[in-house]
Amino acid sequence: MKPIDLRSDTVTRPTPGMRKAMAEAEVGDDVFGEDPSVRRLEDRVADLLGFEAALFVPSGTMGNAIAIRVLTERGDEVLVERRSHVVRYELSAMSVLSGVMPRAVEAPDGHLTPAQVREAVAPPAYYKSDVSLVVLENTHNLAGGTVQDVAETRAVIAAARDAGFRVHVDGARIWNAAVALGEPPSALVAGADTVMTCLSKGLGCPVGSLVASSRERIERARRVRKLLGGGMRQSGILAAAGLWALDEAVDRLGEDHTRARRLGEALGRGRGVRATRPQTNIVVATLEDRPAPEVAAALAERGVLAIAMDARTLRLVTHRDVGDSDCTRAVEAIEATLG
Ligand SMILES: *Cc1c(COP(=O)(O)O)cnc(C)c1O
Repeated sequence: MKPIDLRSDTVTRPTPGMRKAMAEAEVGDDVFGEDPSVRRLEDRVADLLGFEAALFVPSGTMGNAIAIRVLTERGDEVLVERRSHVVRYELSAMSVLSGVMPRAVEAPDGHLTPAQVREAVAPPAYYKSDVSLVVLENTHNLAGGTVQDVAETRAVIAAARDAGFRVHVDGARIWNAAVALGEPPSALVAGADTVMTCLSKGLGCPVGSLVASSRERIERARRVRKLLGGGMRQSGILAAAGLWALDEAVDRLGEDHTRARRLGEALGRGRGVRATRPQTNIVVATLEDRPAPEVAAALAERGVLAIAMDARTLRLVTHRDVGDSDCTRAVEAIEATLG
């Protein structure tokens, strides 16, 4: 039987409807600004996120790198949560590409608080590096797909503004957060300087992310994208997948959240396991008795693929290619492995 792949929501295959939209996409050379599908996607995402403009980029990692580059000067510090994607899974991109250093602090649910932002403010001194940017992550991947709600987001962004810090939101899964809260995505990023969001996660596209910001910053971002080798040509084929997904794939994300809760409950019943109560499509389990790679291998033998994030942490992610019967099989495999 085909394994149930819960390693990530990036493993989805394009649906027939998405492939049809891609095949029929109107295209042009986007480096010349002539791809109508890319333009349409950029305008649509800018609008959904409440910004003037957006830029289509090949990956979320590149989107974050571009945003950080546009918002900082060499030698600055960037206030981030300890387990955030920009510090854990993007090599040392902010140091290598922007010459900035992370100031990593811990937040139990992954979401920086206004108090943590205020603590980063210090009287200026010529021998100190200063924080100039705060990066928020919503949903927070490694904390277990946790959602920062509208009030919390507003408060932390307001604290950053008061401190004179800029704000970037790593919203790779902002669509999941919006669906979980029943809020428009724009409400979750209002007041930020830049937002990065992915089409290639829960929305099920083969490739693509966007950075949204003011028109002026997006023009600078376009230059940085070119510098990083991210200028694309007939990328309307990829943009068409995104346009299709924004129409067809956002509302169904709630199903992924329901299935993740089932998996979280099954893991939580396991011996020596502490599992997060999923708010969205990610379950993170801490294993007290057994190494995570060993449990991942045991699950794989029962046809369920999960990822060991480190020695003690196992992650399972639901997505559109995992249905209810797959979820039932996964629950059985979890019970047999950890029960
Ligand atoms: C996946 C992810 C990214 C990076 O996206 P890629 O397209 O894989 O480079 C950034 N931030 C978060 C929170 C992610 O989950």
